[in-house]
Amino acid sequence: MQAAVVIGAGQAGLSAAHHLLRKGLRPETDVVVLDANEGPGGAWRHRWPSLTLGRAHRVYDLPGFPLGTPDPDEPSSAVVSRYYAEYERRFGLPVHRPVRVRQVVRLDARDGVGGGLEVRTDAGTWRSRFVVNATGTWDRPYWPYYPGREGFRGRQLHTHDFWSVEEFRGLRVVVVGGGTSAVQFLLQLEGVAAATTWVTRRPPQWTATEFDAGWGRDVEDRVNGRTSAGLRPNSVVSVTGLPLNPEYRRGIEAGTLVSAGPMEAVTPGGIRLADGREVGADVVLWATGFRASLDHLAPLQLRESGGGVLVDGVRVVKEPRLFLVGYGASASTLGATRAGRDAALAVVRADRVDRVVAA
Ligand code: FAD
Repeated sequence: MQAAVVIGAGQAGLSAAHHLLRKGLRPETDVVVLDANEGPGGAWRHRWPSLTLGRAHRVYDLPGFPLGTPDPDEPSSAVVSRYYAEYERRFGLPVHRPVRVRQVVRLDARDGVGGGLEVRTDAGTWRSRFVVNATGTWDRPYWPYYPGREGFRGRQLHTHDFWSVEEFRGLRVVVVGGGTSAVQFLLQLEGVAAATTWVTRRPPQWTATEFDAGWGRDVEDRVNGRTSAGLRPNSVVSVTGLPLNPEYRRGIEAGTLVSAGPMEAVTPGGIRLADGREVGADVVLWATGFRASLDHLAPLQLRESGGGVLVDGVRVVKEPRLFLVGYGASASTLGATRAGRDAALAVVRADRVDRVVAA
């Protein structure tokens, strides 16, 4: 019986594993990390080559080993995969991969294990007193429903499957979504696509506010406000808005980053906007975000009527042996790093209680 199984070896899972070992839990004997990927890097491993740390992306340091100053032009998929690989090696993190967790179920106290959790995977079963869930969002791309979507004659793809703008050379592309990915796709499509149209449900939320510590806490509080009420978390960007940096300002001036407004439907040859205008398109690129990858937790029946999982900090209210990290307000590399630490400390405290009670 493990003390803790960590599911996922992205920023959140690595941070949790690091702190669990630092607190004296032993690799393999007490703690294992199960990760579905073929190699290190978490979701970053899958991101497209033009997504670089020089292009508005920033990965915060994991505890105890800074990332340093990577080449801003090297694909972040390579930079982060290398960083996480070295991190796992340096701290001897017990990562097992590829191991996909299919289900987490409650053990009955009658099993003689004081009601721990059983983690069922495609590579065996682990029993554990605590589970830290750090499975991110990458495996759950969100496609909003619009009438006519299935009848579109062109190509539709989601951010999840984007690789290079070269695939869209000379084509008319509609980009759907008001977040950073949409903005970056539009800028990269300039001079490559025949035409771009930006569709957003609401006017883009540009902000000149600098991200300082006080503002960061305010953002976390606002997302936490939802998850601590059992509502589905908002994306962090939907709360922070889009930073009006010089590149984005130029995109607005050029007309690239000007929203055409909301879409009403997808048509066979393009889209229809809410104001009735028809726009011809060869490609619809859905930059519409992701949801938390929590399907394997379904047997625990954690969902509230608001669609989210009720958490108190990182602890799941309906299952106190389970911790969610990288969820809601902690779905950024900074938040994930902190949440991993919080979960590890909570596991160590609760484990101490278990041992004393069992003695
Ligand atoms: P992930 O990195 O997604 O790691 C989850 C791990 O869990 C993966 O390795 C996955 O294989 C594994 N897993 C999933 N399901 C299972 C399962 N059932 N069984 C076993 N393993 C499983 N944040 C920033 O701070 N800065 C940025 O610049 C930034 N850019 C982003 C750009 C894009 C396009 C997107 C979509 C997000 C971006 N984010 C950024 C948010 C980013 O995803 C988080 O910051 C962070 O990397 C998430 O870490 P994580 O550990 O929670 O999840």
